[in-house]
Amino acid sequence: MDGIGELRRDVALANRIIERFGLSNAFGHVSARIPGTSTFYISTRRSPGLADEDKLLVIDNDGKVLSGEGTPNSEFWIHARIYAARPDVGAVVHAHPPACISLTQLGEPHRVVHNQGSAFTDLPEYGRIGLIRSRELGDQVAKSLGGGIAVMMRGHGISTAFKEVRAATVAACFLEESARINLGMLAAAGGDGSRVRAFTREEAQLANEQTGPAAKAADRAWEYYAAVAAQRPLGG
Ligand SMILES: [Zn+2]
Repeated sequence: MDGIGELRRDVALANRIIERFGLSNAFGHVSARIPGTSTFYISTRRSPGLADEDKLLVIDNDGKVLSGEGTPNSEFWIHARIYAARPDVGAVVHAHPPACISLTQLGEPHRVVHNQGSAFTDLPEYGRIGLIRSRELGDQVAKSLGGGIAVMMRGHGISTAFKEVRAATVAACFLEESARINLGMLAAAGGDGSRVRAFTREEAQLANEQTGPAAKAADRAWEYYAAVAAQRPLGG
């Protein structure tokens, strides 16, 4: 399989992974930049769990659909404007994972409390409620993301941005796993965030180098997520 064929396969698989792992159900989408261009592959407007590598759209950073059949997701602007703002980004995941959403609506920050959450220190938040259905709102999400790898979107979800689609997808799964642990710890601590013992910045950096979404160990996470996505039925 050539590089582009592999990329298309990974984009479709990444979409199915975020659905099979409960990060999104009917909504949510993963895209990947076509290397060296200002265009990207993205799934059509249906559940990410139904993504098909032969039915991806190609859209440019100005929101123009260049090829593919079907309607684009209404929030494709998240992807388009992050790619426009960040030439280093090769893949974007946008999902609606419940634990991350819960943290934003508790007004609690994401705290690094285990190895797989270590990449997500000082996560920015995009606070406006509502879907990202315009270029301007896409620009605002990109601005909130800044030079980072993920942005929490209050009452809505998350977006992750990495060089590679596999890392962006593993990151989204790791972040939701971490948010679930955060919620459990907060509940066990009676809602008192000061009782949550978070990693120091140095500890988080060490753990991120060893087990973060861009580390070598993340290959194993992708392999696992892909294998489960192949076995698990639609809807989990
Ligand atoms: Zn959304």
